[in-house]
Amino acid sequence: MFPYGRQSIDDEDVAAVIETLRSDFLTTGPKIEEFEAQLCDKTGAPYAVVCGNGTLALHLSALALNIGDGDAVIVPSLTFLATANAIRYCGGSVVFSDVDPDTGLMRVQDFQEALEHAEKKNMTVKAVYPVHMTGQCANLKEIKNLADQHGIAVVVDGSHSLGAEYYGEPVGKSRDALMMTYSFHPVKTIAMGEGGAITTHDKNLADKMRILRSHGIEKRLDIGPWFYEMKDLGFNYRITDIQCALGISQIKKLDKFVTRRRELASLYDELLKPLFPRIKPPKRENYTVSSWHLYAPRFDFKALRINRADLMNELSKKDIGTQVHYIPVHSQPYYKNLYGDICLPGTEEYYEGTLSLPFYPALKNEDVEYVSNTLKEILL
Ligand SMILES: *Cc1c(COP(=O)(O)O)cnc(C)c1O
Repeated sequence: MFPYGRQSIDDEDVAAVIETLRSDFLTTGPKIEEFEAQLCDKTGAPYAVVCGNGTLALHLSALALNIGDGDAVIVPSLTFLATANAIRYCGGSVVFSDVDPDTGLMRVQDFQEALEHAEKKNMTVKAVYPVHMTGQCANLKEIKNLADQHGIAVVVDGSHSLGAEYYGEPVGKSRDALMMTYSFHPVKTIAMGEGGAITTHDKNLADKMRILRSHGIEKRLDIGPWFYEMKDLGFNYRITDIQCALGISQIKKLDKFVTRRRELASLYDELLKPLFPRIKPPKRENYTVSSWHLYAPRFDFKALRINRADLMNELSKKDIGTQVHYIPVHSQPYYKNLYGDICLPGTEEYYEGTLSLPFYPALKNEDVEYVSNTLKEILL
């Protein structure tokens, strides 16, 4: 079975983990800072805080902004649940924004609409969380301008985008986002089992998140080597040295992984051409180069005369796994109960036409040919 995504683990990765298992540190040891330094190097951000997973990274970012009861935060509905849930963990209200129906990325007009909606309801918007969907970056320039005018923080859910470029630079280098979060779940561009991080240009925010990651504890060496203080309520959101050993080994291969993902995307584009325009290749924006977490072409299911569930079943019979990224978060029962029905036409359109095909560095050219040929057999 070809899944829609999977990790690439080699003997070097296994050896790195075993070496750490035999070392003095299993949880917080030297591998944490080493991995954080590697992340800074790869993202171009001066500070990185690694934590247990991408969801915790989102939660830490929201805590760092002091989001709480009465604060509203704008989140695109087209994302994984965790982006919105992190705001709810802090007691904040989520205001869902729309996205570009072609790319799934938040545009400035989507942000503006959500902002107007919040203002009408007398809500104070504290932050906006654009998502770098599929590994392509949202264009933050205008979003940041508008956010600055209103004193709103821009935080990016960059779970898909480790390895991406934004205006010719590594994804975390720009100051357009105050913070960026990442996930190292096995389907993402590097795998740590569970793993997440936040990058930022703001040292105070990084220090604050480091403290919140470990129970809110601040060491006070000035008082004594044993003394610690808790000023804020923190959590145990730490990651282990074992996982970071894997992360260090994996991030060395990030460029190789992303290069292969780009090759595979071009190959799919080429092989699916006979199905155009009923299947359109993913649209590329010119200010960004994607890390290609997902390969999700646009399907016109009406013109193809098949519904998505049936196509997924047919493909599954041929050992081809596919997935839908994502069911709009505003349509989930939990959020419907909170906020009622919301109309987001761009989100609906993107959702209706999306399907993620098998896509990971270990996929061979023949495998992409097999998937493409099977699609043609079913659809032509
Ligand atoms: C994977 C993902 C997350 C959550 O990351 P975990 O490491 O699984 O907690 C959050 N947001 C997006 C967009 C993701 O793809």
